Amino acid sequence: MSEFRAKEYIKSEEGEIVYRIPLQNDLWIWVYSTVTPKTGVSRNRGEDAIRTVLMYHNWKAVMKVSKTLRTENWKENLREKIKELSERVTDQICPDGHPLVRRTARTGGHFLGCSMFPDCDYIQRKSAKPKPN
Ligand SMILES: [Zn+2]
Repeated sequence: MSEFRAKEYIKSEEGEIVYRIPLQNDLWIWVYSTVTPKTGVSRNRGEDAIRTVLMYHNWKAVMKVSKTLRTENWKENLREKIKELSERVTDQICPDGHPLVRRTARTGGHFLGCSMFPDCDYIQRKSAKPKPN
């Protein structure tokens, strides 16, 4: 996991290994794996999909992406999902001091919304576009 910049790992309540990748503004990517680091083997077939979650402050799940199945090219797929979540992180902060993340609107576009949603529903309005000459 070192190639994914995970500094450390913890165990979830279910005994699952969770690798934590630090990003900015106290945002982290947690990579849940059922694979034990010693053996590199997952405990149960069917339960061995890898989950990636963007976390704030190590307790607030901000967003998830689809599971990575342990197929031949799982490393590539996992790297892609970590990248996908990393790109959601911004250096902006809401008025209450929570980090803003790039969220996907139902219409498909992106907007900056609070990582504490739904507890904080702050959305950064886009500044008006400059008028063409
Ligand atoms: Zn907020």
